[in-house]
Amino acid sequence: MPPAHPFDDDKLKEECGVFGVIGVTDAANFVALGLHALQHRGQEAGGIVSHHPDYGFNNARRFGYVRDNFTKQSLMQTLPGPLAIGHVRYSTAGSKGAAIRDVQPFFGEFSMGGAAIAHNGNITNANALRRELIERGSIFQSSSDSECIIHLMARSLQRNIPERMEDALRRVEGAFSVVAMTRTKLIGVRDPLGVRPLVLGRLADGGWVLSSETCALDIINAELVREIEPGEMVVITEKGIESHFPFRKQSARFCIFEHVYFSRPDSIIGGRSVYETRRQIGVELARETPVEADLVCPVPDSGTPAAIGYAHESGIPFGMGIIRNQYMGRTFIEPTEQIRNMGVRLKLNVNRALIRGKRVVLVDDSVVRGTTSRKIKEMILDAGAAEVHFRIASPPTAWPCFYGVDTPQREKLLAATMSEEEMRDHLNVDSLKFISLDGLYRAVGEASGRDASCPQYCDACFSGEYPVAPSDMIEKGFELKAAE
Ligand code: SF4
Repeated sequence: MPPAHPFDDDKLKEECGVFGVIGVTDAANFVALGLHALQHRGQEAGGIVSHHPDYGFNNARRFGYVRDNFTKQSLMQTLPGPLAIGHVRYSTAGSKGAAIRDVQPFFGEFSMGGAAIAHNGNITNANALRRELIERGSIFQSSSDSECIIHLMARSLQRNIPERMEDALRRVEGAFSVVAMTRTKLIGVRDPLGVRPLVLGRLADGGWVLSSETCALDIINAELVREIEPGEMVVITEKGIESHFPFRKQSARFCIFEHVYFSRPDSIIGGRSVYETRRQIGVELARETPVEADLVCPVPDSGTPAAIGYAHESGIPFGMGIIRNQYMGRTFIEPTEQIRNMGVRLKLNVNRALIRGKRVVLVDDSVVRGTTSRKIKEMILDAGAAEVHFRIASPPTAWPCFYGVDTPQREKLLAATMSEEEMRDHLNVDSLKFISLDGLYRAVGEASGRDASCPQYCDACFSGEYPVAPSDMIEKGFELKAAE
């Protein structure tokens, strides 16, 4: 299993990526490449299910990176056929030491044939559903919320698998982008709010592709056709594509953090490059939070586009004051306390010659626990910086996400317990400023900012306004924000 970096726990983490292909020879090879391009969405484990008319369904699920497993010919030969789906996952705090049975895609055998599903998101009523299903005789194989979908499908009385899926997903609350397959169909579904992404692509020779992000279409030279719409189900066969809208229509609430951090900068969301959006976030940040300084530095790599935008708008020179070591990935298997204390230095080093004597603006995408920000600040000061000003390309992260992103408990989030001024004191920097929620909305293309009466995005981790009540968490004692 790849190591969790000792300091990566200071970021929110996307938990999954999904990918599927129909209509090519050896679809599993395409899926492996797609999952490799989606590896940033989950590094703990991956799985592929394929179907071949003569050999039926086959699957392989492995811990570790896609490149270390799904490049071996001996494994890929076991996944023949023109139809395959895959999944990469990240282990959440509650499921460390997860078993291989938690690795997706999940498979179910129904009276009308088999089906496999891969799910990105989080079912917010999974505990209640699981209890109900177990009481009615379902036997769960994993600890994953996604398995509920298979059991709900098994209980449906509909006559075909897409209709059973619709039935199952109508019972599910929360966020889901699902890629599924039967013997002959590739199916893609997004929840009615469209919280997590899902796009449709086309290969030059006629095959169809479903993917969490467009960057994974590029790797197999597929063309982006369009995004799957919120609440839409597409059913693709070798003959073509059908679209349904099986859920009650609601206003879309796409995850705004996909723009800030989760998606790869070379992906396209809503017709717009993620890189360009992040650069624009930096522009807004510079307008809202100017400061006199000599150098704008990104915290690499995720802060880089916003830092470029900040430098451009402010006129302060841009420089790579922090250099990332690209090769430490697999060096430290165990995040021991000693390594934890060495902390950020294993991954990031300061470009002393550039920093010395300068008033430095450090641009990062977010502050979660604040542990990394503190260490970076110390490194910059040790290198001789005259002043350190943090500029953050997202509003304070004060609430946990329950829609498929691994977040620390609320009390561990720095912004949940401290005001901006207290955070500045805690980090001991010359200034600390965050982009406003309105500024972030402007940067993602909403010229008049956030519509408070009907927000255009999910922004619950900043605002505390959850578009779907996290009912399992409320049952466990989580307190929603009091009405203002
Ligand atoms: S709570 Fe935050 S991270 Fe989670 S879906 Fe909403 S915007 Fe995205």
